[in-house]
Amino acid sequence: MIKMTSNSEHLKELLAEKGLKPTYQRLMILDYLQEHRKEHLTVEKIYTALSGEMPLLSMTTVYNALSSFLKAGLVSAITITGTEVRYDFLTEPHHHFLCRMCGRISDVDVQCPVAERKSMKGYLIEEVHGYFKGLCKECLKRQRKQQA
Ligand SMILES: [Zn+2]
Ligand SMILES: [Zn+2]
Repeated sequence: MIKMTSNSEHLKELLAEKGLKPTYQRLMILDYLQEHRKEHLTVEKIYTALSGEMPLLSMTTVYNALSSFLKAGLVSAITITGTEVRYDFLTEPHHHFLCRMCGRISDVDVQCPVAERKSMKGYLIEEVHGYFKGLCKECLKRQRKQQA
């Protein structure tokens, strides 16, 4: 039996609130996503991480769970790379930085004047995404060392 974090009761409520059945697999996936929210994981990464402990888990199950979380507004999908979807446990709207060298996606701590807006010029805003691309701190450091 895998032990879940003390958080699982809270996640159970969260799922129930959104009308989703709090199945064991959904709970484990949501819990993992929340624990690793800084990493902005792909379906594959989540599946690989959990499949060791959950032998009956399939990639489709992970994908379906994430789709239902997405529809319920529990997670957001980040498509910054253009080739893959990364999932983020949603707390509040925030922007992202993609490092073109190591592929790491980090949260960007900037106050965005439009992130909290719900409408603009008659349009209803449901999501706001801000994407920044470049080199992360670690890759910059590595590059500077190589050039020195
Ligand atoms: Zn990097
Ligand atoms: Zn994020």
